Order: sequence, then structure tokens, then C-alpha cells
Amino acid sequence: MKAFMTRRKSLLVAASAALALSLSACGGGTTTTNPTVAEKPTFAAGSTMEKLSSAGTIKIGTKFDQPLFGQKGLDGKPIGFDVEIGKLIAAKLGIPADKIEWKETVSANREQFIKNSDVDIIVATYTINDKRKAEVSFAGPYYEAGQALMVNKDNTSITKPEDVKGKKVCSVTGSTPAATIVEKYQAELVPAATYSACLEPLRNKQVEAITTDNVILAGFVNKEPEAFKLASDETFTKEPYGIGLKKDDTEFRNWINDQLEEFASDGSYKKAWEATAGAVIKTAPELPELNRY
Ligand code: GLU
Repeated sequence: MKAFMTRRKSLLVAASAALALSLSACGGGTTTTNPTVAEKPTFAAGSTMEKLSSAGTIKIGTKFDQPLFGQKGLDGKPIGFDVEIGKLIAAKLGIPADKIEWKETVSANREQFIKNSDVDIIVATYTINDKRKAEVSFAGPYYEAGQALMVNKDNTSITKPEDVKGKKVCSVTGSTPAATIVEKYQAELVPAATYSACLEPLRNKQVEAITTDNVILAGFVNKEPEAFKLASDETFTKEPYGIGLKKDDTEFRNWINDQLEEFASDGSYKKAWEATAGAVIKTAPELPELNRY
């Protein structure tokens, strides 16, 4: 076991020095925190905060298949950094974790889920951009990732995005990396509904790479370091992660932004990171400057 761990560790460090990946537990496990739930918080009448708080429950959209950020466990509950951010927000509304209704959102359905009120908020590696801001609003960013490429361990031909020109690359429909790899780097996109659905095609060499955010790929590399690696330490876009909510609910957006600042100052942001993605990605983030538009 020890030898195995050591090997995994050295492979990972080689895979991404920039992310400073390393394993702290067998399987790169993530845990969960137990945020203190606000007792009878009060909010302006008619505000989204007041409605959610008095309902005592909240529907949160997240990913169910992305290790480190949002992955559904065997007990049916998701864990990851996004999940912890969702729990922290719920706790400030007086809603305990067991009263959160988790909904799986994939990249392509997030705007629609918000518009249809299938969810109250989305915390799902969700990049803030102008196109999406025309349909939904975003609090945050609470993290900044960047696009990268993952290849099979034995691949030596892809080390930068320019190398995928004309090559088959799997990514997820409706995601920013899928658009970038086609528009900017002329890859032949093989679309999937989720990133985990890209893993077998890569392993079977039906595609030559998978592209998405570095931290999502880091989660997959950490699980299977003998099979996959990051093509490079470099990222080639900026992906600021926001918390998606109903368009123009400015009061709610401002309130979530205020909470994010509090999480950063009271240490709960750091704690949430350390319990989840921080088990693998050793570079602990600072809360990025909020985009209070
Ligand atoms: N952050 C990117 C996006 O929102 C990629 C990750 C994802 O698909 O969730 O499109």
C-alpha cells in the first residue's frame, strides 16, 4: 500500500506541478464540513432569502460526477467544494444540510433549471460569462479555474491546445471549454452530456483528449493516475466560478456575495476547501475579487 501511494503521489506531482496535486489519503478522499446553522435569521419581507428561510429548505443544483467539486457518494449525497459552498449558504439561511434538496445539473441545463425554478441556486463549476448573464445572474466568483487538457498516460503528442487541431476531443455540450476548443483551437469536438462520460472514449482512444477546467480534470487524474495525466500544467482560459440564481434577483445576489466575504473572513471558505478539493489540490485559493455588477 505504501509503495502504491508513493507511486501515485509522484505520478501526480509530475502530472501537474501548477496545481500542486498530491494525495493526502488513499483514493484522494474528500470529506464534508458541518457549518453552523443560523438560528432564526431575519430577512426583508418578500426577499428570496426570507422565502427560502421560512420554507426551511432550498433546492441546490450541482454536479454529481465531478470528484473534488460535486460528486454523489454511495449514500446518495454529493460532496465536494461546490457542495460545501452550497451548504454554507443554506446554513446562513437557517437551513441545515439535511434539508437541502440536491439536484443534478449538467453543463447544458443550468440556465434552464434556474429559469424553470427547478433549483434556487446552482453551485456547479459554473463559469460566469456575459452570454450566461443574459439569462441568469451570478454571485461570486468564489473560485477561478482555467481550461486544460487531459490525455492518456502514454500520450506524448499533445502538450498544448494548439496540438489538438483536427483531433477528436471530448467535452461537454453547453460548456465553455467545448466552445473554446472548437472556436479557438479547431478540434473535432466529440460531445458528451457529462465529463465522466468522456472517460471511456479517452481510455479506448476513440478521442485523443478531454478538455475542461483544470480542477475537474485534476479530480479524474487523481482517481486514475495510472491511466490519465494532464497534458500540461498550463491553463489557457480563465473560468471564474459563480453561483447561478434567477436573473435580476439583485437582493439575493448581493446577499450571497456578502456571505462569500464572510466565509473568507471567518475561515469557513478555507475549511470548505481543505475538506474537499484541498485534499488533492494543494494550492489553497483566496476568495477572488467579487464581481458585484
Ligand atoms: N466551467 C466551465 C463551464 O461552466 C466548464 C465546467 C462545466 O461544464 O461545468 O462551462
